[in-house]
Amino acid sequence: MSEQTPASGPITGGPADPEHDATAAYGLDRAYVASLTRRLVSTTGETVAVASPIGGTPLAHVPQSSTADVAEAFARARRAQVSWSATSLDDRAAALLRLHDLLLDRQEELIDLVVWESGKARKDAYLEVAHLALTARYYARTAHEHLDTRRVGGMFPVLTRAEVNRVPKGVVGIISPWNYPLTMALCDGIPALLAGNAVVSKPDAQTVLTALLAAQLLEEAGFPPETWQVVAGPGAEVGGAIVAHADYVCFTGSTATGRIIAKGCAERLIGCSLELGGKNPMLVLRDADVSRAAEGATRAVFSNAGQLCVSMERLFVADQVYDRFVDAFVSRTQAMTLGASQDWSVDIGSLISQAQLDTVTRHVEDAVAKGARVLTGGRHRPDLGPFVFEPTILEGVSADMECFGKETFGPVVSLYRFHSEDEAVERANDGAYGLNASVWTRDTARGRALARRIRCGTVNVNEAYGATFGSLGAPMGGMRESGLGRRQGAEGIHRYTEAQSVATQRLVPIAPMLGMSEETNAKVMTGALRLLNKLGLA
Ligand code: NAD
Repeated sequence: MSEQTPASGPITGGPADPEHDATAAYGLDRAYVASLTRRLVSTTGETVAVASPIGGTPLAHVPQSSTADVAEAFARARRAQVSWSATSLDDRAAALLRLHDLLLDRQEELIDLVVWESGKARKDAYLEVAHLALTARYYARTAHEHLDTRRVGGMFPVLTRAEVNRVPKGVVGIISPWNYPLTMALCDGIPALLAGNAVVSKPDAQTVLTALLAAQLLEEAGFPPETWQVVAGPGAEVGGAIVAHADYVCFTGSTATGRIIAKGCAERLIGCSLELGGKNPMLVLRDADVSRAAEGATRAVFSNAGQLCVSMERLFVADQVYDRFVDAFVSRTQAMTLGASQDWSVDIGSLISQAQLDTVTRHVEDAVAKGARVLTGGRHRPDLGPFVFEPTILEGVSADMECFGKETFGPVVSLYRFHSEDEAVERANDGAYGLNASVWTRDTARGRALARRIRCGTVNVNEAYGATFGSLGAPMGGMRESGLGRRQGAEGIHRYTEAQSVATQRLVPIAPMLGMSEETNAKVMTGALRLLNKLGLA
């Protein structure tokens, strides 16, 4: 690949006038960009220039939203939510199935844009499309299961009829990161819409265009346009305004920002779900198929150039297979193609920004300076793209090194040898995070039993992360400092609803009847309670 101009990343305060960059070769058609950015709620007249990690190619000047624009977005969403929540659940589910088809039909356009904005490998961008299609289908087909009014046992059989309604929260604020621009823009919003909410979405500054294309697809699928608002701007200011107006906040991002969001939501007594960081462990047991595990490790560690919340940064390998595994893993890693382009041939794409490159470089240099060994990789590759970094395998990492316990969020993994499974579980559970884990063994029942001892929200047996992430009925989220709440499954949609209980009493009041004294009533009640227990009722 030829040498390219280094990307400058987002430049704040850039002029709205595209002539400003008249000499630059734009990666995207200007009319196309304008058709997307017109959806932003923005009256500031300010823009941010965004460049692609692919060669620093300029992409767009993205209009910025003020806190007043955020308030306006919520006002519009609130108006739209009233009629949206009155539409039938079948109509809402049908829109999701149309979205499913649109995502698959328009995948080339979606993938192109995701790759331009993020610099990721094309195959990683495709997985975003696939995950969203799975999400749309799952929630469309389970809409009634999750949202229909449900009868529950009343206080007294026959006399008390009790049921639970699922009432939408109102307007949900979604704050999302850059690493999966399409998935993160939509996957949490799909169940929110289905449950009858409207959404105000704030994507990361680097990936606003993808979020806007997602909003366009929602409209084409039949969701009323005002039910999905998009705002853009600095996290603290615009994200803070989201927290100030929302009825519920769904945040995905770093643990540090998650704490700020949680405090803001606590102050307003609104709920939030927090999908945060991880330092995920993979365990290769002594009976693992070493070749399969090594192949799985390349995906576990280097998918999305390691900028994946559920990717593995710590690899624990049983003593008996350590050497064989390391040989296989290193040689498979060295065979991977590295680059920054729209081409399907790229296995590992670019990091997204100078900031990510700085963190990855710092973690590797710090580890090497303190005695870690680089088995492969370890270098920035500006010849392939401004933020491209080699897939890197480290050995001899110790607790005094930054990459031991801190999330790198890049293509860097540390290898550790273990001597017993108890030791492996203990070390996997070490640290502050608890997002995702992976266990490799031929004895899958043993793998599942081991999973129960690992303090992570998801555990994959003989797979890295895709098996849980792609099983939409299975909740996904973090234990400990990796988050609060869950996306996917029943939890992923119920978070956007209030459980409202309605009980209807018949024939007798829940009080003494016909002049009965309180003492007699207590005796009658006690007899009834004993009887209900004898009958085995809940
Ligand atoms: P980040 O916390 O810096 O930013 C995430 C989002 O929050 C962005 O939209 C940003 O503009 C906004 N933001 C920043 N400060 C804010 C504030 N004070 N108030 C409100 N909003 C604010 O995270 P990042 O660096 O963009 O993303 C990487 C992190 O996200 C990693 O730690 C990764 O593990 C995590 N992540 C987690 C999941 C998951 O499902 N658990 C998925 C993807 C990424």
